[in-house]
Amino acid sequence: MNKGVRLSEKWFNRALWMVAIIFAWFLTGLGKSIIGDLPRVETDYTTEHFVSHTQVDPLRTELKGLARQRQTLADQLEQANLQLIIRQKDYQAARTTFDNWVKTRDTTDEVDDLVSRTRTLDMLKKLERDAERSIEDIQQQQTDISQHETQLLAQVDTLEDAARQQLDDAYEAQETRVFLYRLLVTLPLLALAAWLFAKKRQSQYWPFVWGFIIFALMAFFVELVPYLPDYGGYVRYTVGIVFTVVGGKYAITALQNYLEQQKLAESQPEFQRREELGYDTALARLAKNVCPGCERNVDLKNEQSDFCTHCGICLHNYCNACQSRKSAFAKFCHKCGTAA
Ligand SMILES: [Zn+2]
Ligand SMILES: [Zn+2]
Repeated sequence: MNKGVRLSEKWFNRALWMVAIIFAWFLTGLGKSIIGDLPRVETDYTTEHFVSHTQVDPLRTELKGLARQRQTLADQLEQANLQLIIRQKDYQAARTTFDNWVKTRDTTDEVDDLVSRTRTLDMLKKLERDAERSIEDIQQQQTDISQHETQLLAQVDTLEDAARQQLDDAYEAQETRVFLYRLLVTLPLLALAAWLFAKKRQSQYWPFVWGFIIFALMAFFVELVPYLPDYGGYVRYTVGIVFTVVGGKYAITALQNYLEQQKLAESQPEFQRREELGYDTALARLAKNVCPGCERNVDLKNEQSDFCTHCGICLHNYCNACQSRKSAFAKFCHKCGTAA
């Protein structure tokens, strides 16, 4: 990142920052899709994966059989009820006939006739009782079946409960694995970003480097958040702390190095220091009213001050050709154009 002072260079730099941000944006979109799709490498479990089929399958088959039996019995019961109604009506009709006959009969009538009529009535009553009994029989069978069903369902429930417990455990394990996959994807990105920051941020391809760094930070600290398991916060904050400590240490070392270099530079001969300062760097610092050598404030407007009062570097000198006072960092005299 060359901090040029030329106008176009400034605009190019801004455009390159845009490139960095757009690059980061696209990478983030891609990363988001990849991170979101990671659970697809895992199977979708259901309780059926864990239930003991050797135990539960015979129970389920039996339950199906019972359901069929229950349906058959319901049909039979309906038939038996109809049958009972018919028998009751038959008896009622016979009874009415018999009662009428008794009221109107002559005492001279045969006793045999009475006996035979009573026997018919008894038979009809017996048929009615039989119909009632077959209904009771069906109801008894229904009760037996429903009790048996309740028992079987309880057994199936027990087995399925155990399977659900296993399913929960499997889900938890799966959540952990998926989180680890995501870490395995995002952590190396972060490491690569750190390496790029340390080694490549000054390279001519810096917009891509910065784009990638922004992307890696987004991926780890933003994209990963919705997928964090309950302990995921520890991982996130721990990595954050490690990064801050490493970054802070890096900044402190950089400051120490800068101060040392500055001290070394200030101890060097004046012309050599001016040589080592880049032309654009010197101009940028002068534009901010600071000494190009030591970066402390200087009064450049003062006609009397030709040297920095802090480090002694020459700020103004005189043209060899026309003797005009000019900036010591200018490459040409502003008055006569002679090369400095
Ligand atoms: Zn100075
Ligand atoms: Zn001149």
